[in-house]
Amino acid sequence: MEKIRMTTPLVEMDGDEMTRILWQMIKDELLLPFVDLKTEYYDLGLVKREETKDQITIDAANANKKYGVAVKCATITPNKQRVEEYNLTEMWKSPNGTIRAILDGTVFRAPILIDSIRPVVRNWNKPITIARHAYGDIYKATEYRVPTEGKAELVFTDKDGNESFRKTIYDFECAGVLQGSYNKDNSIRSFAHACFKYALSTNQDLWFSTKDTISKQYDQTFKLIFQEIYDAEYKAQFEAAGIRYFYTLIDDAVARVIRSEGGFIWACKNYDGDVMSDMVSTAFGSLAMMTSVLVSPDGNFEYEAAHGTVTQHYYRYLKGEETSTNPMATIYAWTGALRKRGELDNLPELMAFADKLEAACIQTLNDGIMTKDLVGLVSEGFTATAVNSAAFIAAIRERLEKSLA
Ligand code: NAP
Ligand code: MG
Repeated sequence: MEKIRMTTPLVEMDGDEMTRILWQMIKDELLLPFVDLKTEYYDLGLVKREETKDQITIDAANANKKYGVAVKCATITPNKQRVEEYNLTEMWKSPNGTIRAILDGTVFRAPILIDSIRPVVRNWNKPITIARHAYGDIYKATEYRVPTEGKAELVFTDKDGNESFRKTIYDFECAGVLQGSYNKDNSIRSFAHACFKYALSTNQDLWFSTKDTISKQYDQTFKLIFQEIYDAEYKAQFEAAGIRYFYTLIDDAVARVIRSEGGFIWACKNYDGDVMSDMVSTAFGSLAMMTSVLVSPDGNFEYEAAHGTVTQHYYRYLKGEETSTNPMATIYAWTGALRKRGELDNLPELMAFADKLEAACIQTLNDGIMTKDLVGLVSEGFTATAVNSAAFIAAIRERLEKSLA
């Protein structure tokens, strides 16, 4: 069989621990036999990051900007224990944070759905994608534990030193708490563009929610910027694609999301997105089935699994044990990236390959062959057998070969 052709390389970002092992298995078994895989390889494993003083992460992010599409393996974000374990000279920053800062991107997370695992919310038939504005608000807030009575004020001084705003926040008659948070128009704009672009690229409705009735300046600004950008740049495209943009209050959104059948993108402010993405992923089943893509406002894409490097499994792997680690989200990172590459380079065969690989994964799960983490989640009436990662990938390959033949 002739291999499927690629023209532009994918930016390949390798990673750590168990997911690094899966990465190689996926390439060897599911990609290289079928695709004339072109990648520009960056090793973001912690050893290489230490060796290059983390320059490799910056290079990888810049390559993502250059080529447009990247696929990333999960990586260790070092903490104190990792500094000792890997003998690091510095506690290197989270690679995802570095890449996000360079691409100025928004993260979209969506679950992979299968027939045998029903979401806790029974009417959710389609995935719900959460878009989290990962900048500012309480994550960059200045806080003060007010010790005693006294006056708290909000003051703004412009760049020429003029005090243009001063207002009492509260006249404390006792101890209390105080918080000053901010966001920036250009960050909100980037977030809005990434959301509108991703909605168009996946042909799904976009919902956005804040608490603008209470937060008449802060949240209202988010609402207005989204609306302004939508009207000026995306309305016509949305109408042509038959999708819609829908703004509502966060409380109303929560109620509607629960009653919905899914199949849309829900854009959330930073804190809402943090909380809601955990709720949505838990209700859909498993972190191992969550995909994630970083989309920049100028249209660069970085695909990955939402989960981490599955450290506990890796330690067992190092002891020579077979592990039943779920490769689904990592395989979908590859299919997402290959499909996008195919779309940008006008390679329908590459896009079709991505579809077929995903279909082979779903078929394998529907046939009751799955990793251990999923077996406990299947609904009554389905029978499932737990297999190790290698056997699971082999079962996918078998089905993929049939569908390609
Ligand atoms: P994790 O790697 O997601 O694993 C947490 C637990 O979830 C695992 O121990 C496992 O449970 C289960 N799990 C996650 N993915 C699974 C899969 N594919 N198959 C089967 N089970 C899966 O999170 P963590 O243990 O908190 O973090 C480990 C490392 O990953 C850390 O160094 C962290 O910095 C890094 N991390 C990286 C990223 C990223 O690169 N995007 C994201 C998060 C964390 P059982 O042990 O019960 O089987
Ligand atoms: Mg969270």
